[in-house]
Amino acid sequence: MTSLPALPTTLPATLPATLPSPVRFCADALARDGALVEVANAADGEEEALAILPSALATRLALQEEVQVASAARTGAVACGLGTGLLDRLVDERSSLRGYVVADAELAAPRASQAEALAARFALRNAVVDVGAVRARNEAYAFVGTRLVVEADDRDEAFEVLALCASDGAAPDSALVAALALDTTSALRGAHRALPAVRAEVLPPRLRARLAALAGAHQDNVARRHRRDHERVDAYFHELIYETRTGRKQRDPAAVKARVEHLENERAAKLAELRARYTLRARATIVFAAVVEVPTIVVDVRVRRRKEERVLSLHLPSAARTLDVPACDGCLLPAARPAVCDDKIHLLCERCAPSAQGRLACPVCGR
Ligand SMILES: [Zn+2]
Ligand SMILES: [Zn+2]
Repeated sequence: MTSLPALPTTLPATLPATLPSPVRFCADALARDGALVEVANAADGEEEALAILPSALATRLALQEEVQVASAARTGAVACGLGTGLLDRLVDERSSLRGYVVADAELAAPRASQAEALAARFALRNAVVDVGAVRARNEAYAFVGTRLVVEADDRDEAFEVLALCASDGAAPDSALVAALALDTTSALRGAHRALPAVRAEVLPPRLRARLAALAGAHQDNVARRHRRDHERVDAYFHELIYETRTGRKQRDPAAVKARVEHLENERAAKLAELRARYTLRARATIVFAAVVEVPTIVVDVRVRRRKEERVLSLHLPSAARTLDVPACDGCLLPAARPAVCDDKIHLLCERCAPSAQGRLACPVCGR
């Protein structure tokens, strides 16, 4: 019998590392609904999309069948910028979520004393932390609605909102996402405002980690079904080959050899088919993005390790019970219990620096 090979899980080689522009976002949504869309740069360098809509879609969105979509209002073009009707209609229809907006959160400011108390408990595995200045300000947070799909012979789909502090990629407490109620339009007030810089490079590793977790949850079951089918196919051909070799119907040896070879090839093809069928494939697509200004208390802390030091800004956003978890400088995932390197005080998570003893091999300094 042929033994069962380990099944690969294929994660996508590239994942979205930037938030889609509003024009791109609309173009994709229209194309998914059957429109013919071309995105190009207009004379002024701004992106615009030319779309030809099926008449039913045009009626539903109250648009002409041939439209030009631009991020800023301009003659003859439909505006799809932040907070405009078209974008909101598209996003609302697609996900019942308020989409690409820059907005203010109508949330109460957090308490400075709570932020200061939490910062005093902020610990690094191998460095000293002193709490410094405390101030209140609005901090931009990006919320990225993502559809995660994992499929083999079966398919599972999950929807998750990935939240990050726009400036440094720190991960806020899930209570912030809950408080913003991003599945309704109530808490957000859209505005025509420029999108602030978002540290979007933290997205691919985090999406990859979520996909790997989702794929991992299915791996055992998929492997069990693969093993069952593999054994069934293998036993079937094993039997046929055995009968061909030992059967009472005497044939000449050349014919027996040819028949066995044919069966072996057929078995290999069937087993390869099963391998393809049971290989887990995972992918992630961004279905909406919102950038929201949230009342936040920022606490500066001084981190000291040997002769070096660095000032970190920790944030406590509205509604959160814990400080944002800072991004690891190595892998960009949230670093729950960071250590720091000796030379540049890079923050390193427990995967990048499993041991905080002695001098760390810093993956960032080593690059
Ligand atoms: Zn790391
Ligand atoms: Zn370093």
